[in-house]
Amino acid sequence: MVDIEELDERVAAAGFGEPVPVLDNLYLVRIPLPDNPLKVINSYFILGDDGTTTIVDVGFNHPDSEAALNRALASLGRSWDKVQIVLTHSHPDHTGNLDRIWRPGMPVFANLHSFQEVKNLMAMEEAVYGPLLLQAATLEQQADMTFTDDGPRLHVSAELLPLESYPVFTYVSDGDGLECGPYTFEVIETPGHDAWHICLYERSRRLLISGDHILERITPSVSSWFPAFNALDAFLASLRKVRDLPVDLILPAHGRPFAGLVERVDFLLEHHRERLEEIYELVRAGHDDIVSISQHATWRYPDWKSWPLDQKYFSMGETLAHLIYLVRQGCILQGVCGYEYYFRMPYDRRNTALALCS
Ligand SMILES: [Zn+2]
Ligand SMILES: [Zn+2]
Repeated sequence: MVDIEELDERVAAAGFGEPVPVLDNLYLVRIPLPDNPLKVINSYFILGDDGTTTIVDVGFNHPDSEAALNRALASLGRSWDKVQIVLTHSHPDHTGNLDRIWRPGMPVFANLHSFQEVKNLMAMEEAVYGPLLLQAATLEQQADMTFTDDGPRLHVSAELLPLESYPVFTYVSDGDGLECGPYTFEVIETPGHDAWHICLYERSRRLLISGDHILERITPSVSSWFPAFNALDAFLASLRKVRDLPVDLILPAHGRPFAGLVERVDFLLEHHRERLEEIYELVRAGHDDIVSISQHATWRYPDWKSWPLDQKYFSMGETLAHLIYLVRQGCILQGVCGYEYYFRMPYDRRNTALALCS
């Protein structure tokens, strides 16, 4: 049994790239995420007696992230020759560093057949959120955008771009077993925060590597830009899927390791239930487009209009995920005008009673 408070102190005291022992042959390594509000990602290193090192999630495409991985390997007496990578999902803070560290022959396990799937989705999303960002941007913020024949685009820093290299991925899905040193992790598909998200569950050790699906303090972002993709419904189902697993220790990709899976899942379910009610009430009050609904929703920071553009982007994606959920539940109606969506109450007002997240 791990003493979580004591582990927490050791993690807090550890420098970047300094392996923190969690359980036998399993280490938490803090990898810096420069210029990003998340600041740090936790990679997990698992050592096999045959010299194999499994690394779960690898950080940004940034020299500082790469240096931290190098430092951790060296201090564990390991080399890149026998490393295998597991990706919990496709986001750049988990995958970007592959552009720097991947070499031919290095196995990469993910719930993805190819990174092309991610690039395709991102290209389609851009066509939807580009015009919305332009609508949401202040005059000064429009300087952060470029205007091409394909419409307005947000400038994206190098670390946030999708992978350039094309490592061959080994596709893993629900129920697959991953042998990592003395551990056998069961793959649990948990789409929602990302369409390709997985958690890694070690039944005999009552251990869950949760990626970004469940974090101790942060509410994982859930966004969608397409009516056909009900990301919030997938996320809520993925929360219920892991809720009752026997787990003593959750190892998340950001923040601290923690216990109390049921409480955390219930908190997140309740958070989204309240959010759905709020978004529904805004539509009922007559707000009919994504910018207006996002602007009037309650966020941790007030004065939405003055937010940085990337924060507006995240909040609009989140708002739209809730709107799509409500549309799919039949609580509100959606119309499309060009690239833009509009929302309003159904003609039949008998639908106003909500029974959500039951
Ligand atoms: Zn993520
Ligand atoms: Zn992340």
